[in-house]
Parts: sequence; structure tokens; C-alpha cells
Amino acid sequence: MQEVESLRRKFLRYLAQTSDEPMNVVVERAEGCWIYSKDGKRYLDFISGIAVTNIGHRHPEVVNAIHEQVERYLHTMVYGEFVQDVQVELAERLVEIVQEAFRRASGQAWELQYYPTNSGTEANEGALKLSRKFTGRKKFVAFKNSFHGDTMGSLSVTGREVYRQPFLPLLADVEFLPFGDVSSLERIDEEVAAVICEPIQGEAGIIVPPDEFLPALRKRCDEVGALLILDEVQTGFGRTGKWFAFEHWNIVPDILTVGKALGGGMPLSGFLARREVMRAFAENPPLCHVTTFGGHPVNCAAALAALKVMERENLPQKASVTGEKLKSELQRLAGKFPQIVEVRGKGLMLGLEFETKGQTQTFVKRCLDMGLIVGGTLHTEKVVRIAPPLVVSDEEIAWAISVMEKALEG
Ligand code: PLP
Repeated sequence: MQEVESLRRKFLRYLAQTSDEPMNVVVERAEGCWIYSKDGKRYLDFISGIAVTNIGHRHPEVVNAIHEQVERYLHTMVYGEFVQDVQVELAERLVEIVQEAFRRASGQAWELQYYPTNSGTEANEGALKLSRKFTGRKKFVAFKNSFHGDTMGSLSVTGREVYRQPFLPLLADVEFLPFGDVSSLERIDEEVAAVICEPIQGEAGIIVPPDEFLPALRKRCDEVGALLILDEVQTGFGRTGKWFAFEHWNIVPDILTVGKALGGGMPLSGFLARREVMRAFAENPPLCHVTTFGGHPVNCAAALAALKVMERENLPQKASVTGEKLKSELQRLAGKFPQIVEVRGKGLMLGLEFETKGQTQTFVKRCLDMGLIVGGTLHTEKVVRIAPPLVVSDEEIAWAISVMEKALEG
């Protein structure tokens, strides 16, 4: 216990804090859907490190792949110069998976390339820069309540005023439209380099757009020659019950950004685009978008193993089936407890909306005390995020529901 308290004190003393209310779980180890703390408790993880551990914590195949790569080489050279076998293999597998999803959604064949980065926000930075360079245009369109990351470019297209205000001026040429509103899409014009959009808004509180919205957005971008960037950093890799969320609406982006779950627990992200679009980064001038650590070999090895697990275990399909079961259980709770206003989302990206901030906070805290980790989303104080690893079992779901029911009974 003394060790635990000392660690908590040092965490507060030496690590820069991002809020006054950290969750404060002192981690000892993690495995599958469970996190074990140093004070002898165990927690069922129903947020997956925010949509990262889709295949569970410390999947043995990921751990093995990391060990094997560590024995061979770590960093050897900045991205784009040396041929690193594991990076090439990962790119090939990822491109094939995304091309296959593009084919399912559009019926066409695609020739995509992958540019690896280290975080979701960096993937979006690269996508925004690429769209300017390729189109020669300046302006961006984004959506209200979006979240694309915390570096200056991504923050510039993030649609929440309280988070933007302290950092103004951001990029000037950005217009925000209401998410899900087809009629406002006509504001996208020939000056727009790119529209950036989450297919399902995560941090806004798990907002699924009306079915006509994304097809209308794709059509408008085509009419005016703007590139469509879909940010699937959170929705990608099976989270919503398909490999990528765009498959729910049969549209494809010009640039797809990915991150979070890609690395199987290691930091790896990136963006994918057609070869002729990507070419804009290699000329006039060459080396106009570079990265030291993007595509780190250990992270690529982990990602390659993670993708194999997702494919072999058909995790997107599993998330769809499990998500339906979980959603209907949550709807049962909503029928019983009037403080729940709505249950929404797709696959295992679900949100529970409460009537008040107080009810939301109490629910999250009671669940944590009983060993179930759920959490909020960044842009609203009334939504609880429910996003377990895609490998979650029926027994684990039943246990989580019983905990939530107790938390609601209070
Ligand atoms: N884009 C979306 C949709 C996200 O949900 C997030 C993080 O939550 C990001 C981008 C930023 O990712 P990162 O924190 O890895 O920079």
C-alpha cells in the first residue's frame, strides 16, 4: 500500500497533469480485457485505452512479434530512406486490407499507399498538408464538435470553441459546418482543399450521422474537386462492426487517417491515399514531409501481428454481433432507469447519454469502484463511452451489465 501511495504522489509531482481529476488506477499489469492494479484490484476495461486495445491487452502474438523485432534492429534511419522488411510487410498488409474495404464500399479497384506516423494527430497533420500540396488550394472545411487531435493543425480543424480559444490564432481558412446537416454542404466550394470528417464523431459523444449525410458529402467533394479526409483514428479496425466505418455508407475517402488500434498497443498511425496524391510529398520540393520515428520497426512488428489477429478472428464481424447484444442490454437498462436519455453508436463504439453531468460522473465513479472502467467523451459531460476490446466475451459483458445496473440503482 505504501508503494502505491508513493507512486501516486510521484505521479502528481513529476508528471504534467492534464486535469485535476485523473482516474488514478496504479497499473501493475494488463491482459485480455483486464487491468490489474498494484493495490490488488482488477478492472474490466470497457474503454480500451480509448479505442486502442481492440485485440485486448498484451496479446501474446503482439508480445512475441515485439520480442523478435527487438532482437534484430530498432531505429536505423529516418523514415523513407532504408528498406526495413517489417515496415514494408506492414505497409503491404495494411494497404491490402484498406484497398479491400475500398473495393467493398465502392465496387472499384484502388492503388493506395501508406505514410506511417506516430499518433492520430500527426496522421491528420500529414493528411491536411497533403491535401493542400496536391490541390494547390488553401481552405479547409470541418465539422462542429469534431475532434482531430491537439497539435496546431489538427486543433485548427477541431470544432469545439473552449479548446480552440486559448490557442488562437490557429489556421485561418477553416469553416465549420453542422455535423449531419446535408443542406449546409453546399458551402463547400472550389476553394476548399479538403473536408475533414469523422464518420462517427467520438469525442462529441458518439454521434452517428443520418444515413444520407456521408454520401452527400462525398458527392459535394467530387463536384467541387475538394479532397475528402476521413479520420478513422477512433472508428477504424473493427471498432464500429466493419473494418472501417465508411463501409457503413458505401463511400470512400481520398485520404484515410488511422491510428490508435493499428499498433496493437504500440504507437503507430498514418494516412493512406492514392499513389498519385501521395506523390505530392516526394517532389517540388522533395522531402517536404518527413518523420524520424514514423513506422518504427518495433511498432510495425506489433501492428503486423495485431492485423493478423483481427483478420484471423474476424474481429470486425465479431464486434458487430457483440455490439448488438451489448446495445440491447444497455437499452434494457435505459428502459428501467429514466436518467438514461439515449443509447447510441455502432458495433462496440457505444454511448450512454444521461440527463445531467452529475448523474454521468456518479455512474462512472460507481462503476470504477466496482471494478469496471467506463469513461466520458471530451466534448460533452453527459455521455458515457462504452468501448470494450473487440475480443470481449459474453460472460464479461454480462458481468459489466450487472455492475452498471448496480451503479444505476445506486
Ligand atoms: N482523431 C480522432 C477521431 C480521435 O479520436 C483522436 C484521439 O482521440 C485523434 C484524432 C488524436 O489521436 P492522438 O491522441 O493519437 O493524437
